[in-house]
Amino acid sequence: MIELNDVWKTYPNGVMAMNGMSIYIQSGEFVYVVGPSGAGKSTFIKMIYREERPTRGEILVGGENLAHMKERHVPYLRRNIGVVFQDFKLLPSMNVFENIAFAMEVVEASKPEIRRRVMDVLDIVRLKNKARFQPHELSGGEQQRVSIARAIVNNPDVLICDEPTGNLDPETSWEIMHLLEEINDRGTTIIMATHNREIVNNMRKRVIAIENGRISRDEVRGRYGYES
Ligand code: ADP
Ligand code: ADP
Repeated sequence: MIELNDVWKTYPNGVMAMNGMSIYIQSGEFVYVVGPSGAGKSTFIKMIYREERPTRGEILVGGENLAHMKERHVPYLRRNIGVVFQDFKLLPSMNVFENIAFAMEVVEASKPEIRRRVMDVLDIVRLKNKARFQPHELSGGEQQRVSIARAIVNNPDVLICDEPTGNLDPETSWEIMHLLEEINDRGTTIIMATHNREIVNNMRKRVIAIENGRISRDEVRGRYGYES
């Protein structure tokens, strides 16, 4: 499903962020990506949704090599990969419904289809009653649920989460994790970069540790590690 073969990344300023990384992630997996700051976690994640391109090596997502993907195919890839960020990245001038609908408008879904599907995902994240609220009228946890709804609205195979609980209190973080687990149980592959030791140690999923742009550890029911 997602495969990296000997991937290298040197940024234009000369920083070598990825040094020969190879990994295989199967459809339906839940994978935590851990490691110290600057290790290359974000670079790894950005490569998968093609925000960054590798300097060398092969990145296959659903059988397609992203390194060779034509620019005009990128929107189709993005439809198949949802992304959730630490700071939510909701559009402040749009209400909840519009923020989610926008992700379907860019792939030219029909109005009735958008209406039906947005209400479906609002139901999944339990925010049907707040469809007309503006982002600033919501709590952090609610804003993150909206961003998850937006990320799954086009039925992606893969959901990428970059520190999704980084701005949330522990209780709200667990709410978000249970929602992500539900989404994973429905078959969506989840790749989540995190510094949240408690969550990783309690959920016991696959853990990939990255250090110096390489995989330093890959465990089936892993722990956070880096005991401090
Ligand atoms: P992490 O997410 O694990 O903190 P990153 O992937 O963000 O690590 O960064 C890996 C290395 O690449 C770091 O040394 C960082 O400073 C560098 N880096 C990240 N993004 C860029 C960029 N756009 N340009 C130059 N260097 C970058
Ligand atoms: P469709 O609406 O195309 O028949 P499904 O309703 O089975 O498809 O859901 C497909 C995708 O939508 C899932 O992979 C997931 O991303 C999301 N999804 C739908 N329902 C749920 C749910 N109850 N919990 C979590 N995710 C869901």
